[in-house]
Amino acid sequence: MENNISCGIIKDLLSSYLDGLLSDDVKEAVERHIEECPSCKLALDELRKKATEEMACRDEKEERFIKKARKINYYMVGFFIGLLIPVLAIVILCVVCYIRFGRM
Ligand SMILES: [Zn+2]
Repeated sequence: MENNISCGIIKDLLSSYLDGLLSDDVKEAVERHIEECPSCKLALDELRKKATEEMACRDEKEERFIKKARKINYYMVGFFIGLLIPVLAIVILCVVCYIRFGRM
């Protein structure tokens, strides 16, 4: 009676099992089945490996995104500095003119 779930059902449940989505009863049943069934254990191992690889891939993508965002940030800083300096120069020039000639 212990091992009354078919391998097909277990294999369907494995991804949910890895994601921690199963209720405790079902989780226990899956674990019990895997202990006794090499084929399902292998399937679980493969799925786990795949999940780990996908996670690593996602991390890499995120890292690339962050690097890109940082690069854009540098561009923005450069842009603002490039904009700020001429504006500041004009403002200073105006102030100097105002002080010297008493008018703009
Ligand atoms: Zn099985």
